[in-house]
Amino acid sequence: MVRPSGLAEEVYRRIRADIMSLKLPPDSRVSVDSLARELGVSQTPIREALSMLEANGLVSKKHFAGYQTAPRMDRAQLDELFEFRLLIEPHAARKAALAMPESDMQSLDASSGGAAPSHDAFADMDTDFHKLIAQGGGNHLIADSLARLHIHIHIFRSCFRKEIAEEAVHEHADIVRAIRARDGAGAEDAMRRHIQRSYGRLRDFIKD
Ligand SMILES: [Zn+2]
Repeated sequence: MVRPSGLAEEVYRRIRADIMSLKLPPDSRVSVDSLARELGVSQTPIREALSMLEANGLVSKKHFAGYQTAPRMDRAQLDELFEFRLLIEPHAARKAALAMPESDMQSLDASSGGAAPSHDAFADMDTDFHKLIAQGGGNHLIADSLARLHIHIHIFRSCFRKEIAEEAVHEHADIVRAIRARDGAGAEDAMRRHIQRSYGRLRDFIKD
């Protein structure tokens, strides 16, 4: 992957926030020229930022047509995503309760989402939270396959009600409590409840 310059990183964050808030709508053309004009930078950092966005599935490069934002997740994709999460993440939480090093517990608290300043920032915290738990169990295949799905980016792009973050914060706290208590069964249950409730919160918003 491209090693981004500081400027490309900044441009990446700007474009990503616009995609997440739907200011740049799904399935629409992303013009390098007009972004360069709008942000007052050269094409190089824009192109670097776009390849970072391509790596996490927010844009794709179309032959001869430049970049395009990804389509919105549909109902079938949502169902598949949550079926997969329900198989993997409760198990990962059980393992994390038994195996996560004490030194990672603090990062877990920091990412459980207490005071996220924005929708975009909450998506990042939720990403880190679930990633730490997946890694905490020590199975790299589990951690990698979850990371590759870029679950949270796509979920939060589909739906931005404030309640999602508020409710998720309480559910995250239950998971952290069980992991801290080294309660494998409790962590598994709490993660299963969190994923089922997230699914319930999103289901009504994502049609067909
Ligand atoms: Zn979560």
